[in-house]
Amino acid sequence: MKAFDIDNLHITLDKEGARAYAKVSYPLRYGRFAEIKTHAHVFQFNLNGELKFISGRGKDWPHPSEWLKRTITNDWVYYSTGGYDGPYDCFGEYYVPCLSYPSNNINSCDPFHDNAVISAIKAWDRLHETLMELNSSSLPKEMRDFIDLVMVNSPTELRKRSGRIYEIIGDNITVLPPDVRHVDYDVIPIIIADGCLYKCGFCRVKSRLHFKERSRKDIKTQVRDLKKFFGNDISNYNSVFLGQHDALNSSYDLVEFAARYAFESFDLNNSNIDGPSLFIFGSVDSIIKSDYYIFERIEKLPFKTYINIGFESADQETLDKLGKGITKEAVERAFTKSVEINRRYEKIEITSNFVLGDHLPEGHIKSFFKLIEKNFDQPFHKGSIYFSPLINAKNTGWKRNIKREFFKLKIRIPVPSFLYLIQKL
Ligand code: SF4
Repeated sequence: MKAFDIDNLHITLDKEGARAYAKVSYPLRYGRFAEIKTHAHVFQFNLNGELKFISGRGKDWPHPSEWLKRTITNDWVYYSTGGYDGPYDCFGEYYVPCLSYPSNNINSCDPFHDNAVISAIKAWDRLHETLMELNSSSLPKEMRDFIDLVMVNSPTELRKRSGRIYEIIGDNITVLPPDVRHVDYDVIPIIIADGCLYKCGFCRVKSRLHFKERSRKDIKTQVRDLKKFFGNDISNYNSVFLGQHDALNSSYDLVEFAARYAFESFDLNNSNIDGPSLFIFGSVDSIIKSDYYIFERIEKLPFKTYINIGFESADQETLDKLGKGITKEAVERAFTKSVEINRRYEKIEITSNFVLGDHLPEGHIKSFFKLIEKNFDQPFHKGSIYFSPLINAKNTGWKRNIKREFFKLKIRIPVPSFLYLIQKL
C-alpha cells in the first residue's frame, strides 16, 4: 500500500480489502483497490481505475455506514442501513439496496433526491476536473499512472461504455438470482442459453427470446471478450452467473463446459477473493428432468453452486392467475426434489422463489404451508426461500404492509427466508 498527499487529495494505491465476502453492517471492501480522499468524500476505484464506490465524510452525509456503488453497467446503488427496520431479517444483508432504476423495491428510500447524495455524484465530475489540472510531475510513476487511468475513465467515458457488457454477452441481464447478494452482485455473466420456458404473464423481466442454447464457440467468444472487458480488475471477481433465465435447462455438458472454461480462463483459483461461487436460474421442469448424476457432477465443480428456481406458488388457481404454465403437481415434485438436493450435496444450494401479493387466491398461502409441512419436520440451514413482492401501484397500503405480511410467514418457515428485490447486473 502506498499513499501520497497532493493538493487537497490523499491518494492510496493497492489497498487490500477482505479476502472473503462477509455479512457486516459497515462498508467492507473486497479484493484490491485504490482510493482518493478529499475533505468531503472518499472515492474508491477498481484495478482499471474505474470508479466503484463513493461515500461522504461530511455531517450532511446521511449515515457514516452508507455508501454509493457504481455497477459495471453504470447504474448507481445506494447502500442504506435501513434504519431500525431489520434489513437482515428481510433481505439477508445488513443493508438495504436502493436502486436508481425501477424494481419491485418495497422500501421508501429515495437517496437519489438527497442533496448530499446528489452532490457526491457531482463531486466525482469535479474530481475528474481537479485531476486534469493537477501538476503530478513530482509524484512517483505509479501514482501518475493511476491518475492517468482515472482520467481515461471519465464519467462521460464510463457512461458511453455502460452497454458494452451487454454487447459482449448478446443480451441484457434484467434480473440476477437473489443468491447473488452473497457476492455483493459482483458476478461475471455468461449467457449459455437464451430465453425461458414459460413466458409467464405476470413476469416483468422475461426475455423476448425462446429458450435456445448457445454454442460452445459463442461461449468461448463471450469469455474472451469478457476477459478483455474486466481487464486487470478480473482478479477482484470470484463468481460467475450462467444466464439467462433457465441455464439448468441446458444440456449438462454445456453447463459444465461453461463453468470450467470460465473458471480456468478467468483464473478464479488465483482471485483476490476466496470462495468461488456459481449462480444459475433453473425452473420447475428443468429441475424435474435433471437426474441426480447431474448434481453429482455439479458438486464436483470448483464452485459453490446456487440454483434459484421460480416456483411462484403451489396453488393451481394462483399459478393460472399468474399466467405460469405449470401444474401444482409439478411444483410439489420439483420442490421436494430441491429439498432432497439441498440435503444430499454440500456445495449445491437450491433456493426457491414464491410470489407475495395482495390480490392472490386464498389457496396460495395455504398450499405453501402444506408444501412446507410435507417437506420439513425440523429446521434446516440451507435452501433459502425468497418471496417476490408483487407491487400493486393501486394499493399503496399493501406496499407499506409487505414487510409485516412477510414476517408473518417467515416465523413459520423452517429454512432461511427473505424478500427478493429484483436487482440487475
Ligand atoms: S418468471 Fe421466469 S420463467 Fe416466467 S417468464 Fe419470467 S423469466 Fe420466464
